Amino acid sequence: MQETILSIDLGGTKILVGEVTRTGEILSSKKYPSTVASQRLATEKIKEAVKDYLTEHTLHGQVLGIAICVVGRVDTEKGIWIEIHPGLSEAIALSKEMMAAFSLPCWITNDVTGAALAEKHLGIGRNIADFLYLNIGTGIAGRVISEGQLIKGGSFNAGEVGHMVVDIHSEDVCACGRTGCVELFASGLGMHNQTLKLAKDYPNTVLAIQKNQRVTFQELIVAYEKEDELAKKVVNQALQAAAALTMNLIRVSDPKAVIFGGGVMNDGWFLSHLVTLLNPKTIRFVEKGFKVTTLDPNTIALKGAATLAFIKKGEQVNG
Ligand SMILES: [Zn+2]
Repeated sequence: MQETILSIDLGGTKILVGEVTRTGEILSSKKYPSTVASQRLATEKIKEAVKDYLTEHTLHGQVLGIAICVVGRVDTEKGIWIEIHPGLSEAIALSKEMMAAFSLPCWITNDVTGAALAEKHLGIGRNIADFLYLNIGTGIAGRVISEGQLIKGGSFNAGEVGHMVVDIHSEDVCACGRTGCVELFASGLGMHNQTLKLAKDYPNTVLAIQKNQRVTFQELIVAYEKEDELAKKVVNQALQAAAALTMNLIRVSDPKAVIFGGGVMNDGWFLSHLVTLLNPKTIRFVEKGFKVTTLDPNTIALKGAATLAFIKKGEQVNG
């Protein structure tokens, strides 16, 4: 019987539980309701989901342990989930709690770190020692892999690159307290907010702007392709901000490749336009280029969590 990890991805609207092999194959999975209102409530939901999965579901392999991707800051070595949102901290010894509840070893990490680990061991990053993983979805975050090592930082907060300022003249205030952060322009939520903010100047837009309803990136692209001026303004601004971020990060970390994930990057449209804005001199050492991840965005964190667990168990992980 093959060895597997019971992998969990805590998202804002759902918890995904799956049984994953060392090559990243997901043998089965199930979705459960989630909450990220607090770490304690989220932990209880995770425990309920795992209990149901272990008791009501047929297991396909020999489960070696549990691996969890959560949002926020995580001390993987100590198994402590430090913080769920910036400033909202209720440190939980999650690995220890799961071990006590299910008698299986448990490893935890942040969801973007998990995605970067999956990329490093199962994705395009497999044979690249130095690369950037950049996630552009509802928000923006990234991870630097340098000389084969993931840069964690002194407080497990490295890679929160959504808060890099790309416009020093901007008056748009970010939740982080600064103005002009890239997330305000280039994330899915940022583009939605920019659309609402600029709409009054573009009364003839084809975009359907309704209260309490997100203007999606896909809607913006459709309008952009129809030469809608509002969509072009918002998307071009996003592309320029994302290009500035990408080039700034290249100057910081000197990668051989930049691999993109997240909802905004999914179908390749954004990247195909983004690369045209990159300065040839800035990117001259990025020899392996700019690519969208080949790993399914819905399961990349599950695979990343399992990858972490197999590494911690001293296994060789490859796809
Ligand atoms: Zn910010």
